[in-house]
Order: sequence, then structure tokens, then C-alpha cells
Amino acid sequence: MTERSLTLMAVHAHPDDEATSSGGVLARYAAEGITTVLVTCTDGRCGDGPGGVKPGDPGHDPLAVAAMRRAELEASCAALKVTHLELLEYADSGMMGWPTNDAPDSFWSTPVDEAAKRLAELIRRYEPDVVVTYDENGFYGHPDHIQAHRVTMAAVALTDIPAKVYWTTAPHSAMADFGKVLREFGVDWEEAGIEEDAPAQLGLPDEEISTWVDTRAYGAQKYDALAAHASQSENIMFLRMGKERFTELMGIETFLRVRDRTGAALPEDDLFAGLR
Ligand SMILES: [Zn+2]
Repeated sequence: MTERSLTLMAVHAHPDDEATSSGGVLARYAAEGITTVLVTCTDGRCGDGPGGVKPGDPGHDPLAVAAMRRAELEASCAALKVTHLELLEYADSGMMGWPTNDAPDSFWSTPVDEAAKRLAELIRRYEPDVVVTYDENGFYGHPDHIQAHRVTMAAVALTDIPAKVYWTTAPHSAMADFGKVLREFGVDWEEAGIEEDAPAQLGLPDEEISTWVDTRAYGAQKYDALAAHASQSENIMFLRMGKERFTELMGIETFLRVRDRTGAALPEDDLFAGLR
């Protein structure tokens, strides 16, 4: 009789979110023999086109952008050694307030129940022990991140399968430096749809963070995964840091545990604490 391997499922909004917010845990747990499943909800069609052309500008072909980003996503998954990639293929809704929010096939305009039923099917198929997604604000307010949160929590409720559920977050102590470092490397927050002083307000006070996972040994893989998404201008800024500085800044991934059947003591340093 073979024992079923432990399984991690990460639910993300766009191609590239898997690298920035959970690339470390995806790489680390795959290396530890855990099955990893990435669910990407949208096709990323509102991202940059080749040469940095922005959505709505001449030469931005949303379907061509989606095809390019799908190839990038597959390369990122190869870098992170993701076991299974599942695509829900909703249309990227764009930033809050964009007309693309209301497109009939956008993720944002899809009823939560409808998408949650599809995700619940995947949860029943893979039976993840641990599910990771965003908090109710999608970390920084992007409609597709908020929708991914709502859909994931609804699918978890429908299935009652995962023993643990986490929301990605960042400690205020790190966010204070983060804004400074990103500006140093030329990241334009406004262009990314984030207010200038927002980084300091994002995330949680350090003492409220339940789970700190050291993924620094996998920093190079996380960097390579992000490098696979180099068509997106905000990622190019991260890549300018180089692997070492990137790992210093992004190597500890933090989470808020919001569901738990293990009773593992908090704070914890492992998403699978209490499960192995
Ligand atoms: Zn995203």
C-alpha cells in the first residue's frame, strides 16, 4: 500500500503571482516531496504586451498577451517544479475601475458560486492538505486577487477538505523597507496601481502573522520563476536586484493561518506543521 503524498494547492489570480507571493513555498515543498498544485484563475490578458505595450494602447492584443503569458507560466512552473498546473482561464479583469472589470467573461464579473464549483472539483480531485490564497483585500486590492480569495474560501467551504488554509501576507517590518528598496530599483508603484505610501500599510503587524516559512534556500528558483515572466514591467524591476538581493528581500514567505484542523502551535515555521 502506498501512502498518499501530502499536497499543497496555491490559488492565484494571474500568471506571475505564483512566483512573487508563493514561489518560495512551491519550490521548497516540491523539493521535500510534497505534491504541489497551482491553480491560476485568469489568463493575464490585461498585462503588458511585447515591448511593454500597455492594455488599451495600439498594438496590445489581449489574446496574444494571454498566449505569451501562458507560455511564461509554464516556464515558471518548470522552475518551481510545480507538479500540476490547472488553469481556470477567466479573462483578466484588469485594475479596479477599468472597463475590462465588466467584460462578461472576466473573472470579476463571474459569480463566485460558479467559479467556486469549478475550483471545488479540483479540490476534490487533488485533496490538498494545505490551500494558500490571498486575504479579502487581495493583498493590494486587485479585483482578480479579491475574487480569487472569495472563490477559494467558497470552494473550501463546499468541500471541507483542506486541513489548513492560509492567506499570503507580509509583515509591516518588512513592508517598511520594501517600498524603499523597490524605489531604489526603480519600481513605479503608481504604474502598478498602488499608492506611493501603500507598501507600509499593506500586510499585517508582525505579531499577528501566524506562519513564517524560510525559503531562502530556494531563492534562485523563485527568481528564475519570476524571470520567466520578464514581459511584465513590474517584474523586470524585481529582476534588476539580482538573485542575492531578491532572496534577501523575498526569501521569508509569511502567511496568516485561517483554518486549521491540526492544532499546531503558533507561530509556526512550516505550512505542513502538524501534518507530518
Ligand atoms: Zn496578480
